Amino acid sequence: MGTPADLDLSGAELHELEAALRDLGSPAFHARQIFQWIHKRGVTDVRLMTDLSRELREALATRFVLTTPDVVKTERSSDGTTKFLLRLSDGKQIEAVCIPEHPVGPTDVRDADRVTFCLSTQVGCAMGCAFCLTGKMGIDRNLTAAEIVGQVRVLGRELGVLDQRFTIVLMGMGEPLHNYDETMKALRILADERGLGMSPRRVTLSTVGVLPALERLATEPLMPNLAISLHSTTEEQRDLLVPINRKYGLKELLDACRRFPLKRRERITFEYVMLKNVNDTPDDARRLVRLLSDIKAKVNLLPLNEAAGIPFERPSDAAVDRFARILAERGLTVSVRKSRGRDIRAACGQLITETPRTATPGRRLALAMDAAGRS
Ligand code: SAH
Ligand code: SF4
Repeated sequence: MGTPADLDLSGAELHELEAALRDLGSPAFHARQIFQWIHKRGVTDVRLMTDLSRELREALATRFVLTTPDVVKTERSSDGTTKFLLRLSDGKQIEAVCIPEHPVGPTDVRDADRVTFCLSTQVGCAMGCAFCLTGKMGIDRNLTAAEIVGQVRVLGRELGVLDQRFTIVLMGMGEPLHNYDETMKALRILADERGLGMSPRRVTLSTVGVLPALERLATEPLMPNLAISLHSTTEEQRDLLVPINRKYGLKELLDACRRFPLKRRERITFEYVMLKNVNDTPDDARRLVRLLSDIKAKVNLLPLNEAAGIPFERPSDAAVDRFARILAERGLTVSVRKSRGRDIRAACGQLITETPRTATPGRRLALAMDAAGRS
């Protein structure tokens, strides 16, 4: 924790709140009340914490901040998927998406029996995967734990689902293991039973495989489900599609997955973006089976969401089926991601926001050249 003045109540763990209250000369038990107001009830203004004395509320308001992203725009897809464009306190923008488990009418996500929040962990992303719009933006900055947690508060409150069971996937903008400390802090805050009490089993962290961070994750007491963005079965091809592979190769990544501690019945999800005539052949499928043969794995196929500037095509449904069948016949559990919210460009890998930095003509040109160079 820094000095009390830099403490953001939204990104504080309970013990930090307790320390802050002691500094104010207030009993530490108020920390629990504050923690509940913020994380369980989604309150964004300390003045509304009505079971605290007026003096304490005033002291909190003057000494600390409680940042909550502002909603700039919401877009509701015909299947109920809602995309939120959010503005952070420095004006940067991110996106977060709420996806109902089953398509519902455009009016009420509360009808859905389960919803998933897809959250961002960075403004942009440094990893530069060749098929990903967020990757094309480049990295602007990491999100703070307060901003990651804040997305849950905003989505939960806007949709009225904070009191329901929901799941979280860290599959919005950014690479969570490239922002390790703030991401893990956010997960600890969300998991704390004295607040929201979100079981880590309902959280999935998706990563391209930043190996040192993955090794560190393997030692965490609080462990989310793991999804690995594999996308390729050879080092050469993965070097091109997922540039971090040049540093942390496929073989090392799979070795780390073999060592990753899993409880009984747990499996690692391997995500595989399908690109027409690039990685969608029966040979690719057979290689994938071999690579995963001694790992507790399931595979999630993601037929490419096409977009301008992405120099790849989506394979036909028949090619996706053929690929899936080869995996299934050889005993792998496989699912094909139905692209949700496509009419509002809310599907994974389609999250991109224009910040002043990305919108400069020079940077646009660099991005365009980069895209052309990869095609
Ligand atoms: N950075 C992390 C998490 C965010 S991306 C990661 O890469 O794992 C979430 C998922 O969306 C990843 O599996 C990513 O490969 C996938 N994705 C990115 N661009 C896509 C696209 N154009 N079509 C389909 N899936 C895409
Ligand atoms: Fe970053 Fe994930 Fe996109 Fe790759 S796929 S550029 S890691 S957000």
